Amino acid sequence: MITLAVSAYLVAVALMMGSFVNLAADRLPRRESLVRPRSHCRSCGRVLDVIDLIPVAGYLVRRGRCATCGASIGAGSPTVEALCGASMLIALAMLGLARGALLGAAAVAVVGLAAVSLSLARARR
Ligand SMILES: [Zn+2]
Repeated sequence: MITLAVSAYLVAVALMMGSFVNLAADRLPRRESLVRPRSHCRSCGRVLDVIDLIPVAGYLVRRGRCATCGASIGAGSPTVEALCGASMLIALAMLGLARGALLGAAAVAVVGLAAVSLSLARARR
């Protein structure tokens, strides 16, 4: 039971890491701060609320669009979040808590590095 709770927590953390990866992939190529301003819609400037910030589910609830102006969010964000969450989930399921958490964290880091590198490479072109 405790194992299940810790696993769920680790997957939730992995999903949030995915969320941060998206932020970094979006802002680093523009040389913007990762801390400020708070996450907002690129199109209308609305600061994102709690629902917008839930990984994957927020995207589904908003149907991939900004709730205010309807601008498309793009499928890349929930994909990266889901990849991070799934990496952790699969690692935990295959290796158990201790080793799974380690491998899962490594996999999340790889996904994050790949997403940010891709985004930087795209911006350089
Ligand atoms: Zn908007």
